[in-house]
Amino acid sequence: MSNPILATDLYRLPWTLPDNAISWLEPTSACNLYCDGCYRKNDPNAHKPLEQVRHELDIFRKFRKADGISIAGGDPLTHPQIEKIVEMVASDGGKPIINTNGGLLTPEKLKALKKAGVFGFTFHIDSGQQRPHFKGKTEAELNELRLKFARMLAEEGDISCAFNATVYGHTLKDVPATVEWGQKHIDIVHILVFIAYRAAPLHEGYDYLVGGEKIDMAPIAYAIDEKKTISIMSTDIVEAIRSKYPDFQPCAYLNGTERPDHFKWLLTMRMGTADRIYGYAGPRFMEIAQTLHHLTHGTYLAYSSPRVLGRVRSMLMLSPLDHGLARTATGYLHHVMRSPGALFKKLHMQSVMVIQPADFMPNGALSMCDGCPDITVHEDRLVWSCRLEELTNFGDWVRAVPSKNGE
Ligand code: SF4
Repeated sequence: MSNPILATDLYRLPWTLPDNAISWLEPTSACNLYCDGCYRKNDPNAHKPLEQVRHELDIFRKFRKADGISIAGGDPLTHPQIEKIVEMVASDGGKPIINTNGGLLTPEKLKALKKAGVFGFTFHIDSGQQRPHFKGKTEAELNELRLKFARMLAEEGDISCAFNATVYGHTLKDVPATVEWGQKHIDIVHILVFIAYRAAPLHEGYDYLVGGEKIDMAPIAYAIDEKKTISIMSTDIVEAIRSKYPDFQPCAYLNGTERPDHFKWLLTMRMGTADRIYGYAGPRFMEIAQTLHHLTHGTYLAYSSPRVLGRVRSMLMLSPLDHGLARTATGYLHHVMRSPGALFKKLHMQSVMVIQPADFMPNGALSMCDGCPDITVHEDRLVWSCRLEELTNFGDWVRAVPSKNGE
């Protein structure tokens, strides 16, 4: 067991419901793939017209500041007017980030999206997906596909490149190898995201109620009636990463609405090259980055451009203010003294985000991410995107209560 992660050692990200780093726009719930951990029912006829997308962006503008707008779904690349949507987000001053499985991305499409103002991509790639040509592949075998997209973005230039993967009980052991792969490509892969698998169990001692009436959860995309691991914690994922990187050290977090000691979003910023990680930014660095961005741009920082992430030497000038940067600078200087050739290698910064979505408490309450970044719009309200299906199916949030028969 490595060093415990303590909230008191980390920076609590300042993100709230009305003032956040990210918002979540869903122009469609159509998708060209099936993923195990998906929260959305695939509806091929669910493209929203541009007027509705415009209206939802206006609701965001009215109620919530955000730096980045995740354009998600479904797969947003299935939307026939995706370029227009990217343009709308960019013209509002947001950074358009496309969350996609990548299946429909070609170099030509990428060019058109760049012209429309896309800031970045988050590619969802993991072994829980039914991908043509990649069925039954392991996480390690999927690195070939990850690299294809990272290179495509790098060739187009100055586009943020992130990968996310759902982590299942049986793939927890594969996380360190993906983190190692990310290091090998730290110059073109800017963010890695690991999301612990969650689902609503149908046969594990809960009844589900809406307005006091028992409902059938079965039609909900994230309801499961088989035994699966749904309790991987963000700290389990960090522990797995530490099996390869023992000094891996997060700097910032969001807590749970029911559990202040749970790390729902746990952020680590590492610095180095493809050959060597020199260290990890500390909490003061993240506090400075968030505060300065809010002072200068009016929003908390979500995504940095690849150019900014390549300015690690300038960032290390802040070492007197942050012990993580100071340790990184010391490690770097020692290494350069031993191997002067290292001085000519460019340093890069890469984020590793670990997400622990909704947790069932023993009394049936759900612990959500406090300051949820993935808030979306439903009927002019700001709502959790991970539980949207409850509103579309039942018109209200579902409450879970322990079954009376105590099963
Ligand atoms: S509360 Fe749900 S939608 Fe919000 S960040 Fe957590 S998992 Fe995502």
